Amino acid sequence: MNLKNVHRLLLEHRAKIKSKIEADVKKCPKCPATPGMFKRHEMKARKIRAIADGLVYILLMYLLRWKCPICNRSFTEYPWFLGPHKRYMSLPVVEKVFQYVNEEKTDYRRAAIEQSGEEKKPIWYEQDLDKPDDVRAFAHTTIYRWTGYLGSREKELAALTKNLMGKNPYSELPYLPAKVSPRKYHSEKRKKLLELCKRWGQAFSLFCSDCKEKNIILRFATHKLF
Ligand SMILES: [Zn+2]
Repeated sequence: MNLKNVHRLLLEHRAKIKSKIEADVKKCPKCPATPGMFKRHEMKARKIRAIADGLVYILLMYLLRWKCPICNRSFTEYPWFLGPHKRYMSLPVVEKVFQYVNEEKTDYRRAAIEQSGEEKKPIWYEQDLDKPDDVRAFAHTTIYRWTGYLGSREKELAALTKNLMGKNPYSELPYLPAKVSPRKYHSEKRKKLLELCKRWGQAFSLFCSDCKEKNIILRFATHKLF
């Protein structure tokens, strides 16, 4: 992803929530009630991290909060590109997870660096570049945590797969091998989790395959993926 698209995504999101009068959910996430309508509570500024053009950028975005008329508690609504309580914008980190599960010799540390041709370099924090003694970089542990996060989202993957098969019933998606190199796991549980990450990768690639860079954002915006 490039920085221009990230900025555009955040601007589009801000414009969308500015005029939003209805929450995405009907059921209150904080109590058993289904009031259908929630009261707009606030737009809260939040710092997020995004990998763009080979660097980590810390950017400000806005999240919409709603209040339940029954229990009077408020909750945050997240856009498709940011998981609840996640610091990183999903898409570029998810690409790193796919790289890790797909490439036999790639471990977490290798997946966390940027490689163009022969050149390899850490993904530095852009705002630290002018302080050479204390430059932070994208951490490989983030990829590890995200394999756990994606690998536990079986229901969401099933929904995306169903959606894709509906559009193209002859797709080879269900027949693609989900095998992951045995070097990457020591337990059956971990194996299943990584295989699910690989399935995510295949579904994601198919979803993007006919999108041009400029309209990926719009196409994704209608789906809650992660
Ligand atoms: Zn409630």
